[in-house]
Amino acid sequence: MSLSEEILDLISCPKCNSRLKERGESVVCIECKKRFPIEDGVPNLLE
Ligand SMILES: [Zn+2]
Repeated sequence: MSLSEEILDLISCPKCNSRLKERGESVVCIECKKRFPIEDGVPNLLE
């Protein structure tokens, strides 16, 4: 399963507001490197 670019354009890191990149089964912040799991196709940014 792959995230659409649209989703990655809409969301940003809740910690530092930077862009997120898809990395396998999770998304990773390009700035602080925080990792968030993708659940049911949607990144879970609540951790
Ligand atoms: Zn960040």
